[in-house]
Amino acid sequence: MNYSEYSVVIVGSGAAGLYSALKLSQQMELPDGILLITKSSLGESNSLYAQGGIVGVLHQNSDDSVEKHVQDTLKAGAGLCERQAVEYISQASDEVINDLMDSGVNFDKNSDGNLTFTLEAAHSVRRILHSGGDATGRGITDALCKDVLKDENITVLENSMAVELLVNSDGECKGTILYNELTGEHEIVYTSALVLATGGVGQLYKYTTNPDGATGDGIDLAYNAGAIIQDMEFIQFHPTALALSPDNKNRFLISEAVRGEGAKLLNGQGDEFMSSYHDKRELAPRDIVTRAIYSEMAKEHTFNVFLNASMIDSIKLFKRFPTISKKCKENGIDISQKPIPVAPAAHYTMGGIKATVEGRTSIKGLYAIGEVASTGLHGANRLASNSLLECVVCAYELADYLSFANLTTPKKIDDNIRKIIELYSEPLSEDDYDVENLKQKLKNLMWNNAGIIRSKDKLLAAQDDINKMKATFKRERKCLNKDEYEYRNMLTVAGLIVESALSRKESRGAHCRSDYKQTDSKAVHSNMIKSDRKELLNVR
Ligand SMILES: Cc1cc2nc3c(=O)[nH]c(=O)nc-3n(C[C@H](O)[C@H](O)[C@H](O)COP(=O)(O)OP(=O)(O)OC[C@H]3O[C@@H](n4cnc5c(N)ncnc54)[C@H](O)[C@@H]3O)c2cc1C
Repeated sequence: MNYSEYSVVIVGSGAAGLYSALKLSQQMELPDGILLITKSSLGESNSLYAQGGIVGVLHQNSDDSVEKHVQDTLKAGAGLCERQAVEYISQASDEVINDLMDSGVNFDKNSDGNLTFTLEAAHSVRRILHSGGDATGRGITDALCKDVLKDENITVLENSMAVELLVNSDGECKGTILYNELTGEHEIVYTSALVLATGGVGQLYKYTTNPDGATGDGIDLAYNAGAIIQDMEFIQFHPTALALSPDNKNRFLISEAVRGEGAKLLNGQGDEFMSSYHDKRELAPRDIVTRAIYSEMAKEHTFNVFLNASMIDSIKLFKRFPTISKKCKENGIDISQKPIPVAPAAHYTMGGIKATVEGRTSIKGLYAIGEVASTGLHGANRLASNSLLECVVCAYELADYLSFANLTTPKKIDDNIRKIIELYSEPLSEDDYDVENLKQKLKNLMWNNAGIIRSKDKLLAAQDDINKMKATFKRERKCLNKDEYEYRNMLTVAGLIVESALSRKESRGAHCRSDYKQTDSKAVHSNMIKSDRKELLNVR
């Protein structure tokens, strides 16, 4: 196998990966440069599709303060946020958002030239910055991609997927195995700092707002390398994704900000229903709105409810939500006239690889930032627009942390690393799997048994099915293509979600159990899972 060496390798080109590459390049001399790898094209990511905005706790916003933002975040997190992480990220917001603007990200301004702040569910003040109306993710990723492509310290490798981490017998990460989708070749990359910025796991579910690449790869890689994985039972289901038909599975998001501007939810009879569920009605926390919609859909045996935005001034509506109104128009819905059919969809992964705000994980040399990481910011439920903030703050802090680290590339191969390399040097197996079908089967299983409302029986049935699926598709193999690797990773992550969901015998935040409806005041702790790496390292 071919090999190369870089001072830092970043896996993923969403907001977290792109921004960390730029900050690293600006902050320090890297003798072997930075490699940024991404499994599709540069910038294709969850980040690209983010709509509503990013939290900006800015000094210039006199209505807001770090303490108010911290309180809102802690409340949404339902007792499981780590206060220190929340405070740190909130405090860093002003500096990092200003740095983003200096890097060419344009947040929307009013006619006086001042930044416009919008409101989203469970925020006590207007503090959400947006770009291009409802195209915040594009505004951020486009600006960052432009700078990354100009930066001579950063080598970009597209259509390349990290498929294994090289962990030595001391449990340190020394690099990764890449699979190049265009050539079908595997290659080795050695590094002393491997950064996972691989995003979330929405594609594990039948209905999701996440693009195709959100298959939980980073969590599989870190878990199988022996890292601690935290809080995987907490998956956020967004209440309002465009639900045109039961067959429409990758669902376009109808941002919370539409409800923030006054839109109302209606059931099939045309009646508003949120007041029966929460006093904040449409602006109640996401998990509550999701379960309210789910319950209305179950009552009426329908696959959607409706979001009525027609009371918002149409000029304002089209100006503020150009992407949403265009997408709806393409599907025959004029949002200033007609209610939008909406239903919940898997949206955000609160748990992930346990990491500090600088991205340090339980494995030396392995870092995790952005949605793939679990820093303690979100707890049991993410506050809207905190995720993009976490991506950029943690990317910024990681670069700062690594600027003090010794990044001389160590191409030292021990027995453990040799075993891993040998596995990927073997000829391909002859097995032929219908991966598309297998993925669909897993997604249906997760939606039905480990989705919005869970129970012991359903989770145990899911665990049993996942174990059977794992038995016929072993992880320790060199796969034929990207789809097979993704399916392999999805199986690992599905197992982790179900295991964590089974062990949390209460309902809290986004985790709702029909057999344990109450929150257990004694269960204020994170769920942590760690593999002993035997499976991987006993491959031969
Ligand atoms: C439709 C939508 C709207 C949203 N709106 C908002 C919002 O308004 N505000 C907000 O704060 N948050 C929002 N979110 C959430 C937010 O966008 C994400 O949490 C955040 O962008 C995650 O960024 P990231 O860099 O961690 O990961 P991503 O942006 O998902 O990037 C992951 C990258 O890793 C790559 N990758 C994955 N696996 C591999 C592998 N094995 N090898 C190589 N590359 C790999 C992917 O191709 C991708 O480039 C939204 C999410 C969605 C889906």
